[in-house]
Amino acid sequence: MTQTHTGVRGDSGPAVAELVAGRVLDVPDFPKPGIVFKDLMPLFADGAVFREVVDGIIAHHGRESFDVVAGIEARGFVVAAAIAYATGVGVVPVRKAGKLPRATHSASYALEYGEATLEVHQDAFTAGHRVLVVDDVLATGGTAGATLDLVERAGGTVSGFTVLLELAFLGGRERLAPRPVHALLTV
Ligand code: AMP
Repeated sequence: MTQTHTGVRGDSGPAVAELVAGRVLDVPDFPKPGIVFKDLMPLFADGAVFREVVDGIIAHHGRESFDVVAGIEARGFVVAAAIAYATGVGVVPVRKAGKLPRATHSASYALEYGEATLEVHQDAFTAGHRVLVVDDVLATGGTAGATLDLVERAGGTVSGFTVLLELAFLGGRERLAPRPVHALLTV
């Protein structure tokens, strides 16, 4: 991981890290007191930056390294769909409990703020397909850990995991080890 003199760092280098850092807003005390919410809507809303970010994720993993992209509800869907369209693969939404209509695998886990259950259709992945998993923010790693487990229970093979922003002080990367984490911006 490289770091600029301004302290901005990320796994795809300082230029991409600066791009993300310039398009994230800190929202104190949301959704509850003590949490600083990292709002990436400005990044999604900036077409040129969004495209560079998506292209950077694809370049990091290599467009031949995955057969399908999985996005974590809800902001992960935005990134996953863009990667899928750009590379011509399909996209699988990993959803919050109760949203999927057919038989699912589910996993419950603790969040930085609260608890949650994620689900994926049991037939979401072709056996052995390589799955690139994406989300907006990595905090404690509970969401990502549950998702990576779900993908494998549903027959996929995790080929990579990317987030736009990692909150390093919450230890998500360590929790997911030895699975590699690719974060465009680490704060
Ligand atoms: P965690 O399971 O603790 O790693 O939390 C990650 C999930 O919760 C991701 O889907 C994020 O979108 C969301 N999340 C957790 N903390 C934050 C935060 N401080 N700002 C924005 N999103 C967050």
